[in-house]
Amino acid sequence: MGALRPGRRRPASTYACVADRVFDGEQVLNDQAVVVRGERIAGLVPVGDLPPGLPVVSAPGCTLVPGLIDMHAHFMRWEGPLFLAYGVTSVRDTGNALDWILARRAEWPSRAWPRVYALGPILDGPQAYHALLSRACADLDDAVAAVRQTAAAGVDGIKLYVNLDAGWIAPMAAAAHAQGLKVSSHSVGTGTLFRARAGVDEVFHLDGLLPDVWPGAPPGWLDVWGLPGFARTWDRQQVAADEMARLGLTVTPTLAYWDSCWRTRSPGYPHASEGRYVPSAFNRSILVGRADPEAAARWRAALAAAQRFTGLLIERGASVLTGSDVPCGGLTPGLSLWRELQLLVEAGMAPSQALGAATRQAAAFLGQNALGRIAAGAMADLAFVRGNPLTGLPEDPVVPMVIRAGQLFRLDDLLVEAQAAAQDLRDDPAGAQWLPAEEV
Ligand SMILES: [Zn+2]
Repeated sequence: MGALRPGRRRPASTYACVADRVFDGEQVLNDQAVVVRGERIAGLVPVGDLPPGLPVVSAPGCTLVPGLIDMHAHFMRWEGPLFLAYGVTSVRDTGNALDWILARRAEWPSRAWPRVYALGPILDGPQAYHALLSRACADLDDAVAAVRQTAAAGVDGIKLYVNLDAGWIAPMAAAAHAQGLKVSSHSVGTGTLFRARAGVDEVFHLDGLLPDVWPGAPPGWLDVWGLPGFARTWDRQQVAADEMARLGLTVTPTLAYWDSCWRTRSPGYPHASEGRYVPSAFNRSILVGRADPEAAARWRAALAAAQRFTGLLIERGASVLTGSDVPCGGLTPGLSLWRELQLLVEAGMAPSQALGAATRQAAAFLGQNALGRIAAGAMADLAFVRGNPLTGLPEDPVVPMVIRAGQLFRLDDLLVEAQAAAQDLRDDPAGAQWLPAEEV
């Protein structure tokens, strides 16, 4: 077996990957090498049977897992190398300027970025919440036209937002389905069950549950879940969870975002590595001046409540996917997806189930069945993760090497790329959206 020195931009060829164990998306395999040919996995063979002379990429002390998929992010160029550095090889952008994100999606094969999937702009009512990332719709005809035009541009799904008239949801969902696209949605105001019955396939953040379980709840957003009155809705939560599972609704709770909401309001932002590698201008704009211990306590209770409700969904077998909502909350790309997995494990998933949600299940929702698994014919998207995430998800994961479409990237190189890309921040729509005016 020859030694292969990993390096960026190495042309795809045939080589084998060897680690202490392989998690193929469903189960752990021992003593198996993964043979990569071009951009795909050629197969798995016993390590002892590898042909002599075949180059080998070896990472002792590591577990080989399918590249992870972040199902909720707002992409900026500086995020790309960081996602890869944490083993995330696919990202679904959930709201961005249409032409810009489609250009980035076309560009990923030549960049140190994950694969990019895109929902295009956030489709919203006349009062669009996000100036740069949304498309405002004036009336029902315009809203349906917005779905058709966004679909015709070639997006990977449609995202609906909170200021849409309730009566527009079903026709918009039907228009998306007619183009073969799934519909993902926030559901503040109308409630989750209303949107699911109107044809929405996936809900984000659990942000529409209050109308379903606590009519007349005090004003506020997700933090209302942290008020004492929310615990008294437990019986209604059970009914809502039953109904969400029965309707086949997919839920991407973005618990890492809920988690960031108490951390960002706590003095000192208590997490050892969060915010590391995030461009300092962006970090400052998200974190500075927001410490508020009372709000932090409410948000911390809200996170616990969201985890309890997610536990109900897991118990009922509802489809729960993994998304971080990077860069909201100042979350670090990639690292925050591992946090999401940890929070889902606390909510009731086994580590293998959480990893399966971030790989196999996410790929299935995207309709990309060649992703998210380690098997002959699948895409060669692989991450070498130090330790054994099946017995304990890492708090601060180390991914010394990652492979995307057969191409190998080293951690050190990716961190250098991420630093160089930080200067692009202000030119990207999501950067301009979230940086305060004086910073842009
Ligand atoms: Zn988002």
